[in-house]
Parts: sequence; C-alpha cells; structure tokens
Amino acid sequence: MADYQPLHQQRPPAGLPHKRPTSRSRKIRNWIILLFILLLVTALWSNRSEQLERLIPFIKKDAPQITELHPIVQLKKEELITEVEKLGISILITDDFRSHEEQNALYDKGRESEGPIVTHVRGGESYHNYGLAIDFALKTKKGKVIWDLEYDGNKNGSADWIEVVKVAKQLGFSWGGDWKNFKDYPHLQMDFGYSIRELQRGHRPEESIENEE
Ligand SMILES: [Zn+2]
Repeated sequence: MADYQPLHQQRPPAGLPHKRPTSRSRKIRNWIILLFILLLVTALWSNRSEQLERLIPFIKKDAPQITELHPIVQLKKEELITEVEKLGISILITDDFRSHEEQNALYDKGRESEGPIVTHVRGGESYHNYGLAIDFALKTKKGKVIWDLEYDGNKNGSADWIEVVKVAKQLGFSWGGDWKNFKDYPHLQMDFGYSIRELQRGHRPEESIENEE
C-alpha cells in the first residue's frame, strides 16, 4: 500500500516534451480519416441513395405493387409492333405483365398440371412479374398464330422470328433465345440493370429515363 503512486504523479512533468508524440498524432490522423469516411458516406448517401440502397439486402417496406407493364416497356412494345409491321411481319404479344399467381400457375404446368414445362421460374422470379418482359409469336397472313423460328412470311430470305428479335434488340430488349440454360425464344425483356433479387427486395426502375421522349 505504501508504494502506491497517485495517478497524477505518473504524468510527465509540465513543460517537458510528451513521451509518445507519435501515438498522439496517429490518433489525430485516425480521427481525420474517420471523419473523411463519414463525410464521403454522407455525400454518397444523399446524392445516390437509390444506388446505395440497392446494395443493402433489406426488403423495402414501401415497395410499389406492380400491376401492369412498365411504361417504357409498354412504349417499346408498341414500337416493336409498328417497326416489324414495316418489314411485313405481323406479331402478337401473347404475354406481358404476369401476376405472381399467374406465374405460379404457369410454373405448375408440366409439373402439377398437364402439358409441357413452359417456365423454370416461380412467382416473383420472372421479369414478367415486374412488368419488364413480353412474349411474342408470329401471325401468318391467314391470322394463324405460330411459334415457328424458321417461318419467312415476308419472303425476304431471312426468318421472320430473327428479324423481330433484331428489331427488339435495337429497341433495347434482351432476348430469351440468348440465354445459356433455358432458351425462351418468345421472351423479350428490359431489366434496366436490375436483378431479380433487387426487384424482389422492392427496388424499382425509374418510370421514365432521362432524354427519353
Ligand atoms: Zn417471357
């Protein structure tokens, strides 16, 4: 007990240089770095909160319910119909927006119910469920709806189906026929850079794109 030193006596005497100046300046530097990171995060958060939000694996509570085709996809769908019409090709949009229930019913086809398997995805896993995809088929001169990839109704030497796909791609669609695993030839979609996972979490593409008419 006798050799116990009160705390203040352990301090260096006033006027003398501090024993560990490096530790102190390191501390200050760390604080500056921390402050800088905080400022950076705040700046990013306020400017690009949507992009940052998309990285966070939480489901947005205010996720807007989707009940129809995205307005841009709707516009591009109409453009596709008129553009291929100019080439002498008539198409029918067989499917566009699909509810989760409709998707599940489709998934059951060939599994729970009769018929061939038409989809590999359940409700909420398809771009159709977010109004970002359409399916098309060709219409012959007689009005018959066909899914013939080689049909050349306009007699220009190239398959109408591929001609439609070409126009669709120019309009910004991606094609299910390019998929590696399950090829979905009638399927055209616009994901706007959103993954299914992000859409499931409630993130939604803008209703309109800047510089878009
Ligand atoms: Zn489809």
